[in-house]
Amino acid sequence: MFHISKIKKGIIHLRIWMRIMVLISIAVVLIVSAILFFYKPTYTVSYNGEFLGYVNNKGDLQSRINEYVTDGNGENNVAFIQITSMPQYEMCLLKKDVVTNDEEIYNKIIQTGVSYYKYYTIMLDGAEKYNVATLEDAQNVINQLKEKDSNNIEKITTVEKYNTSLAEFASIDTCVSGLYEEKPKPVVVTPTPKTNKAKNGSIGSSKNVNRSSNKVSLGISLIEPISGKITCRFGNQGSYYHTGLDIAAPRGTPIKAAASGTVTYAGYHYSYGNLLIVTHSNGVQTYYAHCSKLNVSVGAYVSQGQVIAAVGSTGNSTGNHLHLEVRVNGTAQNPQNYLY
Ligand SMILES: [Zn+2]
Repeated sequence: MFHISKIKKGIIHLRIWMRIMVLISIAVVLIVSAILFFYKPTYTVSYNGEFLGYVNNKGDLQSRINEYVTDGNGENNVAFIQITSMPQYEMCLLKKDVVTNDEEIYNKIIQTGVSYYKYYTIMLDGAEKYNVATLEDAQNVINQLKEKDSNNIEKITTVEKYNTSLAEFASIDTCVSGLYEEKPKPVVVTPTPKTNKAKNGSIGSSKNVNRSSNKVSLGISLIEPISGKITCRFGNQGSYYHTGLDIAAPRGTPIKAAASGTVTYAGYHYSYGNLLIVTHSNGVQTYYAHCSKLNVSVGAYVSQGQVIAAVGSTGNSTGNHLHLEVRVNGTAQNPQNYLY
């Protein structure tokens, strides 16, 4: 009996507690409803520590600001807009009739934005020359200069610029005509008819050779006119003295000028065959003999590396090769002191 009454007592207690819990829940719901009837959850907005007002829809305002900052304001060349910081939001409950001013807050915030303009600057040799609005414009200018074979094309570069003020843009035509630089034309000495006589005295003979191993300084540097196998070196060959260097190469192989200079002989010689003599500074001359073809005439200025003739086997020759001579004031030097 004792036990049963204890259980009954426990059940009664439980029922009382349950009733209390239900009552509390109802009270909470009533209070919250009453609050929401008069008040609504709102956000205060502050920006750089300054209170701006209340906003109805925090998400909307923030996404409008984000859009403005990343896409610019629709103005030409605006790359992005920088604002000092993002607004801070704090939730609060306000009476329903409180004035929210989303639009005004948005405008206040974007007014502080600084626009960054994007454009392109065309540089010449590291110096700013012209500004253009788009990358396409800049590439257009460079392409036109390339087409015109402007001499300074390698010194022209483009830089992407971001600036808080918009630059003045030049038209493509202005840029092209302002930057174009004509290539220097080779100096052409008045061409004179082909002659079989060298201007600077007679064609060097085998009597006039530097037989010592002393290397005479040329004061200029030479490049190899062709590449190929050396078939006969300079110097005593037993029965005769070889005044040059023979380099074998197929007929028609282009021969390059060893250095820049003026053509002083271009013609046929019974022994040298088709011969070109180029006179350089310091009394230096180079001879290109046995050619199948001569590309330049007497009086022409040739630059180092320019193709001036083609390998052949004309004159006193038994196979296609270049007979190359280097003479200083008429005296034949060993070409291998300078080349090959
Ligand atoms: Zn030879």
